[in-house]
Formats: sequence, structure tokens, C-alpha cells
Amino acid sequence: MAEPTAPEPTAPDPTAPDPTPDARAAALDAADPLRDRRAAFVLDDDTVYLDGNSLGALPRAVPGRLAEVVTHEWGRLRIRSWTESGWWTAPERVGDRIAPLVGSGPGQVVVGDSTSVNLFKALVAAVRTVPDDRDEILVDAASFPTDGYLARSAARLTGRALRPVPAGGIAAAAGPRTAVALVNHVDYRTGELHDLPGITAAVHAAGAPVVWDLCHSAGAVPVGLDAHRVDYAVGCTYKYLNGGPGAPAFLAVRPDRLAAFDSPLPGWNSHADPFAMAADHTPADGAARGRVGTPDILSLLALDAALDVWDGVDIAAVRAKSLALTDFFLDRVAAELPPGTAPSVTPADHARRGSQIALRHPDAAAVTQRLIAAGVVGDFRPPDLLRFGFTPLYTSFADVLRAVRVLRRVTLGAEG
Ligand SMILES: *Cc1c(COP(=O)(O)O)cnc(C)c1O
Repeated sequence: MAEPTAPEPTAPDPTAPDPTPDARAAALDAADPLRDRRAAFVLDDDTVYLDGNSLGALPRAVPGRLAEVVTHEWGRLRIRSWTESGWWTAPERVGDRIAPLVGSGPGQVVVGDSTSVNLFKALVAAVRTVPDDRDEILVDAASFPTDGYLARSAARLTGRALRPVPAGGIAAAAGPRTAVALVNHVDYRTGELHDLPGITAAVHAAGAPVVWDLCHSAGAVPVGLDAHRVDYAVGCTYKYLNGGPGAPAFLAVRPDRLAAFDSPLPGWNSHADPFAMAADHTPADGAARGRVGTPDILSLLALDAALDVWDGVDIAAVRAKSLALTDFFLDRVAAELPPGTAPSVTPADHARRGSQIALRHPDAAAVTQRLIAAGVVGDFRPPDLLRFGFTPLYTSFADVLRAVRVLRRVTLGAEG
């Protein structure tokens, strides 16, 4: 006796015509669980902004909050605001707001200074925890230039040699001579996402700590700092975290590394009792050890307000949308541009892709200028890369479609 069967889920009908790209973009936008976040940002209807990996768009909450900080907290309360408005503890408080976005816990993240300065603190502090015979600092050879410059200086100061290695080779290069390894989570040029769990485990197996630079992953990719036992991490807040131009960076330290965190820049803000004005430095407990001098309060509080856009946002949903946006972009580039016009240098493999796509084009600088003139803002990285960053909180699938169509027009014009 045949039992009644539940209807099969409807498989896509292979004879049905493909939806038009516009219908696909509209369907993807309609199904996007983050679509209402876009309204939290100041954006223009006539511009597609794909440069949030360089400078995130302005969250609407920031101007009002900054005006209040300036007119009330600074203007009226003046010096009282260091305590009454919570200015003094803002570096740790804002750090605690960033922590969940990078998989870190409370009390482990401090905000202040630039990424460059925090890289220096983390590198030197890391080397100070290892014996002298660990005489090599491994650095991701394709890293953002500032990382390489600072790693070289940290090596000179600590009497180590600098050994640049491609990120994919760091795991194999780590050994008994490794003092620390510095790796970029996402390559700023190619958009390649490096294997944070695997590289971290390999460097640890070699007995060394690791510093991750999260500039191009914080706010776009789940990081899992604590899950993967990352020793130290730094990152920008003006890219996918939308904190504003020059917003202060963050430094994250694993809890069991905090007590030994010996900063090369021990200013009075990292003192256990700063207002005792003691002649000798006694480091503060916790993340405040990463502080140096008086924090840049206006930028820090602009960032604080900007972080409101993350309330209730699941970073897994951000990642899912980021991959869907970049998939759609690559798919439309393949469909709309003549083959070979602008090949992608970003890995097709999701496990190795950050939240940007880089396309190679011989006239990349000129193409970027034409794109911007036509309302599609990406950027150029020498010698021949067009870079497009996708910010899941505000980039729509309709934006992606429009960007590719303009790219088609601009590149065909450039060549013909
Ligand atoms: C953007 C970026 C920086 C910038 O450092 P600043 O000190 O803020 O100028 C550093 N490292 C990487 C990997 C970056 O992408």
C-alpha cells in the first residue's frame, strides 16, 4: 500500500528561461536580510560606492553624536568630560564593542593610535616574549607596505632578522628560529583571504606567536581570534568598520598574553595609576596596556557612534552576503565583458576570498578615473589592478549590476 508522499521541493525547471540580470539583482536584494542597514548610511542614489575597503561610508548617527560631543561634552563640561562623559575609559569601552566582530572577548581589545603604531607595539611585545635564539621575524611578503616597514624596524630594534615569505609559505617557514610571524588576513591588492586557523596553528606548533593584521577583514569576514588562539591582532576601523578618516585602530591581545604584554611604547595612559604621575612605569592590567598617550577623543567617539550600525548584526550574515555580492559581480563580469578584458586576480574559491574583487587591466588607472566619472567608485592599485570593495551593510546587488555595466562601457570605450 503506497503511503501518500509529501510533495518534492520544486527543483529549478531547466527549460525555464534564465531570469534577467535585473530580475536576479532585484530578487537577491529582496531576500537580503541586511537590506535595511543601508538606510543607516549617508549614500548617494547616483553613485555606486565600492571603496568601503578604503574609507567606509558615513553612518547617519555620527554627525549628530559628534556635534553633541563637541558642543556639550567639550564645549560645556570641558575637563569634567574625562570622567563624567567617560572619555578616559573610551579606548577600552569601544574596544569591547569591536571585540565580538573579531571573535575576541571583553577586556582584550583597546582602541587608539593608527594600525601602523599598533603593529609596532604588537611586534615588539611579541618578540619580547621569546628567547634570543628565535632570531627571525617572518612577514607576509605581499603585506601592506607599512606592515613591512614596521616589521623591519621592529627587527632592527630587537636584534632579529626580517624574513619576508609569501603568506601561503609562512606555515612551512615557521620553525625554531621564528620569533613572531606577521600576516595580513586579506591581501589588500588581490583580496585573497589567508588561512588564519591553519597558519596560526602552524606558527604555534613551531613555538612562536603570531600577529594578524585584520585591516581588510574586520567587519567583513568572521575572524575568530579566540577560537583560533590568535596571540595578537591589529586592524583599521575606517574601512569596513566605517569609523571615519583616520579613525583610531584596534589592538587585540589574547587574555593569557596580556599579563606579559611589554609594550615598546609605555606612555602614561598605560600606567596602572596614571594620575599618580609616578617616575617609573607600572603597566596597567588588561587591554589598557596597549594604550600610549591621550586618546584622540573626537575620532574615537565618532567611531563609537559608527559602531551602532552593527547592533543586532550577525557577522555570519555579513559574510554570506559578501560572498553573494562578489559571486554576482564575478558572474556579471564574465557575462558582460568580452573574455580576457579584465581577468580577476581574486580567488574564485570562497574559502580564499575576502570582501573585494581585484581585476587586472592594462589601463587600470585610467579606467578607474572613468569609472569614478561615471558614478562607480572603486580604486586603483599599481601597476594594473582595479579594486572593488563590497560592504555588505550597504552594497546592494543592484549596485553590483550597475557597476559591471558601467565597467563594460568604460573598458570597451578605453579599448576601442
Ligand atoms: C589600510 C591598511 C593599513 C593602514 O595603516 P594606517 O596606520 O591606518 O595607515 C595597514 N595595514 C593594512 C594591511 C592595511 O590594509
